[in-house]
Amino acid sequence: MREHISNSLLLRWGLSLAIMATLHASCAQKKTPPTNVLLITVDTLRPDHLACYGNSKVKTPNFDRLAREGVLFQDAFCQVPLTLPSHASILSGTYPMSHGFRDQGQTQSNRKMPSLAGVLRQEGYRTAAFVGSFVLDSRFGLNQGFDYYFDRFETSLSGAKEFQNVERPASDVANEAIQWIGSTPEKKFFAWIHLYDPHDPYLPPEPFKTEYQGNLYDGEIAFVDSVLGKLFALLEEKGLYDNTLIVLLSDHGEGLEEHGETYHGFFVYDSTLRIPLLVKPPRGFNSKNQIIQEQVETVDIAPTILEFLKLSPRKEIQGRSLLSTIQGKRLVSPSKLYGESYYPRQFDWSELRTLRSGKYKFIEAPKPELFDTDQDPHELRNLALEHPETVKAMLGDLRQLSERFPQESAIDQKNSYQSNAEVRRKLSSLGYMSGSRSNFGLKATEPSNLPDPKDKLDVYQRFQKALLASGKGDPNTAASELESVLRLDPQFTEARLLLGMIQRNQGQQSLAQKSFLAIVKQRPSHAAAHYNLALTCLFLGQRDEAEAHLRKVIEIDPAYSDAYADLGGIYQSKGRTDDAVLQYQTCLQINPLDYQALNNLAAIYLSRDSDREAVTLLERVVKANPSRFEAYNNLGSAYLKLKKFDQALVEFGRAQQLNPDYGPVQANIGLVYMAQGRIDEAKEQFTRSLRLDPADRAAREYLRMIESGSALRR
Ligand SMILES: [Zn+2]
Repeated sequence: MREHISNSLLLRWGLSLAIMATLHASCAQKKTPPTNVLLITVDTLRPDHLACYGNSKVKTPNFDRLAREGVLFQDAFCQVPLTLPSHASILSGTYPMSHGFRDQGQTQSNRKMPSLAGVLRQEGYRTAAFVGSFVLDSRFGLNQGFDYYFDRFETSLSGAKEFQNVERPASDVANEAIQWIGSTPEKKFFAWIHLYDPHDPYLPPEPFKTEYQGNLYDGEIAFVDSVLGKLFALLEEKGLYDNTLIVLLSDHGEGLEEHGETYHGFFVYDSTLRIPLLVKPPRGFNSKNQIIQEQVETVDIAPTILEFLKLSPRKEIQGRSLLSTIQGKRLVSPSKLYGESYYPRQFDWSELRTLRSGKYKFIEAPKPELFDTDQDPHELRNLALEHPETVKAMLGDLRQLSERFPQESAIDQKNSYQSNAEVRRKLSSLGYMSGSRSNFGLKATEPSNLPDPKDKLDVYQRFQKALLASGKGDPNTAASELESVLRLDPQFTEARLLLGMIQRNQGQQSLAQKSFLAIVKQRPSHAAAHYNLALTCLFLGQRDEAEAHLRKVIEIDPAYSDAYADLGGIYQSKGRTDDAVLQYQTCLQINPLDYQALNNLAAIYLSRDSDREAVTLLERVVKANPSRFEAYNNLGSAYLKLKKFDQALVEFGRAQQLNPDYGPVQANIGLVYMAQGRIDEAKEQFTRSLRLDPADRAAREYLRMIESGSALRR
């Protein structure tokens, strides 16, 4: 009876809740719905390859739709023609000398940069980012202010397959974003979607591959356009399109052989600095189908978004809001636009910095350049010698602009590099030689005595070709290209380093050792050369020499996490387990996801019966590397040791699913069955394991035990 009463009460309570919810919803509908923000960055996209910017050969109806429903900026430029630093400027509204990202592979150092996502989160927005390339992995620090950051680029231990773990197609990125947006559509959101596809290699899927045969770069752009179409359709279906401010831009362009540059990042010409910028305002703004001529830059994006949302400007932000120009007025301050590339510093060549003011563009370099971009939009005629007074004035303005804002110190700069082999391998598979703090001496504002990149174009282009060939698993082409580079420029350290690494991977340890020794002779504090020397020594069985080189690496660069992991390996093999533990722990303090340190440390914990600690580490490995079968096998083994048989079977099952031909996992399943007394099934597993790996002695021994009856049936 009592139950009956409370049930009916509950029912009534439930009913009134439902009524309240309906009432609440109808109230909410009367208010203006909140404005959402969708920031879309399409990597490596040149504006002159979009129909709305006048290209009739590429079909881009969805890009064009944004231009039609909003405004198109004719003269928009990025701060840096490199993915990570450029996005840092977009997301923070600050210049690179201030936020400190000047190259790929860096992390945020001491100072926190302002974060558009952080401000919007404080204002009650759900915030999420969906990135298409490892270059923007959360480990580099752009995840600041985001509730959710979709990156997940797994560890791969084989360099040859690395390129599969560093990028994902636009459709995958958009699907993840669509799911997130659709999960709670009633809450206002800020989503940043990064679509990497137009970045090389140009490999569009069908039908774009066939349709754009002969111009696959355009094919990638058309593919991205089709993905945008699906994204916009979803927003419309959910009733969100009209209330969403959509800002679409690129992080930089692509050389496409202009000025001899195939890709981007090396020079600062407009082929790589000029970007498309389209802004589709939310409902209530009358600014359709406008073309804006004013010169704008990527630091202007964050303040513009804030003003659209009627949020007060943040004083740390250095860009200008473009809202007034979008509404048809002129911007108050005349524009002086800044650009730079420090990428050449990777090779001990001079950085390039540029200032644009009106029709003039000045490039500060050992051989300075001045262009009249009205008369000479392709920057073919250097006027620097003809107009020395303009050069002098613009150089002064450039210095003033770069000193106006808080600077990152050279030390912070140096310390911001992630010194680990995985990062370097992944970036190099994308065509970037990545920094190591030891070979990057930054003198931020000094005029440079280093070689001018213009004079190094030929060797750089060949080096780039070699880097990409090696990333695509073609070491022979890479090695012969590098040998020819080194004949032309014997001082080209990074080329010699790459050659040594290729030789090492090819099993030519002595040749590799010679290459690395040559670098160390020239540059005794080259940490990466010492590290690679250590690896060749290990291959050649010279453990003590390897140890000495690893110690040298740590002395030069205490944050070189791989050196600790390998030192741990040496100690472990010498039976010095306590020392090994210490090294692995230090490695994990610097790089919490180091695959080798996590697994080896877990193995030591298991052998010492610290099973719980081992499981914690192995769970971390699995979470970070959900498609590595060995990781599941290791975790399963730890559960087996803890006698958590069901959990062990789950993990072994996952390993088996990923790699059905992996013998050890079959044997491990056999062990679980044996422990559970399921002897016939165990026998079948060991037999299967032996079929896959006839040399598995343990499996053979267990099978013998079962057959002789020493494994008792329960
Ligand atoms: Zn990029």
